[in-house]
Amino acid sequence: MALETTSTLMEIDEEENASVIVKEPPKIHRLDESVVNRIAAGEVIQRPVSAIKELVENSLDAGSTSINIVVKDGGLKLIQVSDDGHGIRYEDLPILCERHTTSKLSTFEDLHSIKSMGFRGEALASMTYVSHVTVTTITPGQLHGYRASYRDGMMEYEPKACAAVKGTQIMIENLFYNMTARKKTLQNSGDDYPKIVDLLSRFAIHHINVSFSCRKHGAPRADVHSVASSSKIDAIRSVYGVSVAQNLMAVEASDDDASSSVFEMHGLISDSNYIAKKITMVLFINDRLVECAALKRAVEIVYSATLPKASKPFIYMSLVLPSEHVDVNVHPTKREVSLLNQEVIIEKIQAVVESKLRNSNEGRTFQEQTVDPMPSSPMTASQASPSAPSTSASGFKMPKVPHKIVRTDSQDPAGRLHAYMHIKSPVHVERNSALASVRSLVRRRRNPRETADLTSVQELLDDINRSCDSGLLDVVKHCTFIGMADDIFALVQHKTHLYLANVVNLSKELMYQQVLRRFAHCNAIQLSEPAPLLELILLALKEDDIDADGDGNDDLKNKIAEMNTDLLRRKSDMLDDFFSIHVDEEGNLGRLPVILDQYTPEMDRLPEFVLCLGNDVDWDDEKTCIQSVAAAIGNFYAMHPPLLPNPAGEGLQFYKRKPSCKSEERDATTLGDSGEIKDDIEHELLSEAENAWAQREWTIQHILFPSMRLFFNPPCSMARNGTFVQVASLEKLFKIFERC
Ligand code: ADP
Ligand code: MG
Repeated sequence: MALETTSTLMEIDEEENASVIVKEPPKIHRLDESVVNRIAAGEVIQRPVSAIKELVENSLDAGSTSINIVVKDGGLKLIQVSDDGHGIRYEDLPILCERHTTSKLSTFEDLHSIKSMGFRGEALASMTYVSHVTVTTITPGQLHGYRASYRDGMMEYEPKACAAVKGTQIMIENLFYNMTARKKTLQNSGDDYPKIVDLLSRFAIHHINVSFSCRKHGAPRADVHSVASSSKIDAIRSVYGVSVAQNLMAVEASDDDASSSVFEMHGLISDSNYIAKKITMVLFINDRLVECAALKRAVEIVYSATLPKASKPFIYMSLVLPSEHVDVNVHPTKREVSLLNQEVIIEKIQAVVESKLRNSNEGRTFQEQTVDPMPSSPMTASQASPSAPSTSASGFKMPKVPHKIVRTDSQDPAGRLHAYMHIKSPVHVERNSALASVRSLVRRRRNPRETADLTSVQELLDDINRSCDSGLLDVVKHCTFIGMADDIFALVQHKTHLYLANVVNLSKELMYQQVLRRFAHCNAIQLSEPAPLLELILLALKEDDIDADGDGNDDLKNKIAEMNTDLLRRKSDMLDDFFSIHVDEEGNLGRLPVILDQYTPEMDRLPEFVLCLGNDVDWDDEKTCIQSVAAAIGNFYAMHPPLLPNPAGEGLQFYKRKPSCKSEERDATTLGDSGEIKDDIEHELLSEAENAWAQREWTIQHILFPSMRLFFNPPCSMARNGTFVQVASLEKLFKIFERC
């Protein structure tokens, strides 16, 4: 299918080219002013909510302390914004709605220090090209106000004197009356009203000195109603509700080093108790409500890694930068801004959020214990051990943990981790250190970094840190993914160097490291149907057989499969607690761990993985056991090439049919030996393979590399074993070109 489509397209292209060459070039003419204006207006005012954003920003620019909005028919029939700001001078009314008339900017240089939200003088003008605009306004000291109405940038008649309350009221009627397509789409896509409420809620929690209200026309009650409050948290409570406000923590970050970044950030971010379906990110940069996808993603990743169960946070952040570092003029609706040193700033914020989340776990736990929340001193192995261990189902010693002290879930009974960590060196402690031990236990359970100050996991994590290559770390943190060079190697650029990076090795090691970092904290992927271990192992043994050309003794295989199943069933508590690998009583595999969010391993490799757990893990030694399970998971989750050959390269042969079938596949090989049915299967296979390969490349670019940037410590060995190979340096290439 794909082949046919491409060739047809090429033909059409050629035809079109031919017709372009033959035809006279079309005449270029100047667009009518009104058409230009309407096109431009459609860009600035994309939908009702964008009109409201502009109007509210005007009201804020006018120094208002109260802004009230009324909306009818999702904003398409009526938008009315009333404020108590400084009003508009009578003399300015005639040009108020002409394009590029503004009171906020005079020279281009002013743009560098602009403090107001508006500056282009486009919003009101745009509205007059796509709706009917009426303005009522009064300036301080006047006895009466004026009302004027506008169409297509022009005032329709002399302003009329009228009674008015302090400030300005702007009324937008019949939005998009002259843009049928836009109006229809908006009507079909449902109401903009929820978006409007969302927008005003955002404004309300940042501009806490301003009271906002928003209601539907004719409705007795407002849907957003904020009163000027003394703190952001009060504002959040009144707008988003107690459930959000009570689970927030303050974060701050700043930098004042002109060579890296200059900024201040104050924010409120949700803790592990806040569970939502989607992330809410309210971001203000220099008091301007904006979006920043990169920052949002960075924060989201930290949450997923640190608080997997609360991975859809509520984030409010206000960033202040020197105005000359912010380019506010990069987006037609000013929704995005561009920042100097954006990457550095994002990294710093990310680090602060991460440490806040980790520390908060401790703080919150202490609070729940209702004991003196004094920070406890670092524990030693002996201090942290429980005083009265009992035996858990897994056979490991389990300490008795008063259930009121530790908030935990049934899947994850308190204490097992701790007991397991000390199974090799049980140490008895005095009674009075029991509380300290519980604290430490809880801390370690909640804080992966501290998971095992005293244990094998910590040793393994230390090994990772110790063997980290700082040069490669810099490459990993700052490289740009260019594309896949072949099935295994990605081409990446770092500064002026190009590298080939082995994605299989990299992903394997990253997964291994993540298993250790998420030790005992992993979320789980539920298999759609539990998979019987016995069958999986048999399957893997048979695959082994084919590879090794063995004679395939079935009895022996069954015996091995049974023994391994039995072994894994016995280890099921430990596998579940530490690695979120769930094996039920009957020996079925039900759950697998989430090692990287939004990533599931290739299930084709599941049999091999299960066999490896049974065969290759040393269950007797704690450290080797954890290490080998982590390595097995790493290998399973690694981004191996899909099993189907890559159709983009020589693998295409695999999918080709017999020469007789169709003309455009003349050069096909002899794989298919019968008629049409075989052809169909090959098409299906081909598109399945194309999907699998495209999916893998997407995952490598959007999950592997971003995650590596955040979490990966590349071991020194990777500089030598061909995982990273420098293929070119741009300086050297330039030298060569200079010589040419
Ligand atoms: P901009 O905000 O980019 O200047 P607008 O078209 O939004 O452009 O507004 C044009 C001008 O109208 C503003 O510069 C401001 O002087 C005036 N204006 C608009 N809305 C208000 C308001 N609510 N109160 C006072 N002045 C306003
Ligand atoms: Mg404006």
